[in-house]
Amino acid sequence: MSRIFSGIQPSGELHIGNYLGAVKNWAQLQHVHAGSIFCVVDYHAISGNYDPAMLRARRWGMAKSLLAAGIDPAHATLFMQSDVPEHTELSWILTTITPIGDLERQTQFKDKSTKLESIPAGLLMYPVLQAADILLYRADAVPVGEDQIQHLELARDTARKWNARFGEEFFPEPRPLLTPTRRIVGLDGQAKMSKSLGNTVGLLETDDEIWAKLRPAMTDPARVRKTDPGNPDVCNIFQLHKAFSDTDTQANVVQQCTTAGWGCMDCKKVLHGNMIAEFTPIRERAAALDAEPQRVLDALADGGRAARAIAQETMAEVRERMGMGALTLPSA
Ligand code: ATP
Ligand code: MG
Repeated sequence: MSRIFSGIQPSGELHIGNYLGAVKNWAQLQHVHAGSIFCVVDYHAISGNYDPAMLRARRWGMAKSLLAAGIDPAHATLFMQSDVPEHTELSWILTTITPIGDLERQTQFKDKSTKLESIPAGLLMYPVLQAADILLYRADAVPVGEDQIQHLELARDTARKWNARFGEEFFPEPRPLLTPTRRIVGLDGQAKMSKSLGNTVGLLETDDEIWAKLRPAMTDPARVRKTDPGNPDVCNIFQLHKAFSDTDTQANVVQQCTTAGWGCMDCKKVLHGNMIAEFTPIRERAAALDAEPQRVLDALADGGRAARAIAQETMAEVRERMGMGALTLPSA
């Protein structure tokens, strides 16, 4: 049986891209794979510029949102990365076998670093810490969105290299688990929806807030007038229907769009209703956690304990195999 591990940065609100690409899948996989492990990766979130008070609020918000989205502490381990110091220890170890060229080639590094005047080394090392996150739990399957495929390739290379030098087949080579909605584009239709780009729709936003974002959202650019037929295949709103609407509704959207039966606003209203329907139980769980916030702390405390137990066991073995186990007196 595969061991599932995945993480999410507390770098902003949990949005529909995170949910459809990863977190919804986590909530399903936890019932199939006993002992699944999910992590709020706060060490990753400090690899860019950030405000400490904001980070504190976002760490809380992300833990609560994950529980609201369906991560169940009775089935899975949910913890805060910085509660398990072994992540940074293994990360250092893995930097010693990772070629800088491989890190400089990472698309995410290139995207994020071009916007900066001075590039923190941590941004370059981000995928090494990510490899450490996964390998620490000797996970072999990692449910993520499409943007993480390249980082996972690097994690597989890293596992292979470490195994070849220090312990054949100790670390499994982790593979990505993707969803049909592996890449959600922001509502401007320009770039991947990302917390750091501010083009998100949050899972816990109100009906009105979500509608205020959907209303001006980009559709088929060739459909200028309501009477022009549209092409759903190039419309981001149709991509979201594929995620939130049932197949009958999707077929109707195609029919109404291609015959100009509906205007884009009609189409967006149907999507809005279906999104709200999916978010209603999530909002209810979030409200219950707001009323009883200690449950968030308890889940993280239990999760941290469970994660540390596995991490410490892995690191004892890693240190031993690398010649860094406890010293004993030299034999005479
Ligand atoms: P940031 O902008 O700070 O990098 P993010 O929105 O990209 O934030 P991450 O914490 O980096 O979110 O990623 C968490 C998970 O969500 C990862 O598995 C990632 O692949 C997935 N994910 C992020 N954005 C999308 C998206 N637009 N579509 C599908 N999956 C996504
Ligand atoms: Mg990201």
